[in-house]
Amino acid sequence: MTIDFLPELVGSMSTGAAGNPTVAVMEAAFRHHGLHWRYVNMEVPPDLLGVAVAGARAMGFRGFNCSIPHKQAVVQFLDDLTPSAELSGAVNCVMRGSDGRFTGTNTDGLGFLRALRDVIDPHGTNVVVLGAGGAARAVAVELALAGATRMTVCNRTLSAADDLARVIRDATSTIADAVELSVGYGIPERTDIVVNATSVGLYEPDTMVPIDMDTISDQHVVADVVFNPIETSLLRASAARGAQTINGLAMLVHQAAEAVRLWTGVDPDFDVMETKLREVMGLE
Ligand code: NDP
Repeated sequence: MTIDFLPELVGSMSTGAAGNPTVAVMEAAFRHHGLHWRYVNMEVPPDLLGVAVAGARAMGFRGFNCSIPHKQAVVQFLDDLTPSAELSGAVNCVMRGSDGRFTGTNTDGLGFLRALRDVIDPHGTNVVVLGAGGAARAVAVELALAGATRMTVCNRTLSAADDLARVIRDATSTIADAVELSVGYGIPERTDIVVNATSVGLYEPDTMVPIDMDTISDQHVVADVVFNPIETSLLRASAARGAQTINGLAMLVHQAAEAVRLWTGVDPDFDVMETKLREVMGLE
């Protein structure tokens, strides 16, 4: 019997890696599917990112995730980008091709889209994206590529919203405009989907983006990228007005599942990954 002591390697590069639960979720999927793969959680300081990527090449990594603060900086060390990574300017997942080239993609946006599609097809919809940071850019790009008709990017810093709306307008057929997120912002009429892609509400169950909740109704799907708490103040208030809601946990698990799919070719069991995430985050 031949024993193979050399697993395929993937992992994560970030700072503050000790607080990142992804390793537990990925390894749960690998174990469940009998994959001889290991996911290594790596603390990588910003000034050593290039060296770390070169190290991953040298050690034959099949790919890796990038998290805060490397999602934009890693681009310069890669060989290719997928269209969504190119448009969003952010990479959270790198794949090694059979030719050894490292291609960057963004599974945050894909993960969001999968969670959204469980509830609504974004094709032909009008959407409001609250925020213009990394997560918002990934979400906005995927919504546009999925055929959203109209998009309003609403952000506290108007210049960032302007920039994202311009990217969407220039690169896709979605009609996009930018507005400032100010207290009492009213969701425009005929909006189908509202996404909170700001960090407002993260670890703060009683804080929410300052939109006028009287403009939310049972006509809306309201999604929140914030995953801790799972049911944010925005989602609770939206559900109380009859809106369908989507929490950030679904997006988180879907983006991890997407990475497993891209690296291994195996379609992983969503429930196994979600259960492990809830368990390690003390949510069970
Ligand atoms: P960034 O720092 O890139 O962006 C933060 C965004 O939030 C900006 O648009 C910022 O506006 C806005 N913001 C922050 N504070 C306030 C405030 N007090 N009032 C109004 N707007 C505010 O962060 P990311 O985009 O990387 O992350 C955003 C959130 O997405 C985080 O909570 C993160 O955990 C979550 N996330 C979830 C994922 C999932 O799988 N569920 C995946 C990735 C991220 P401004 O431009 O004015 O500063």
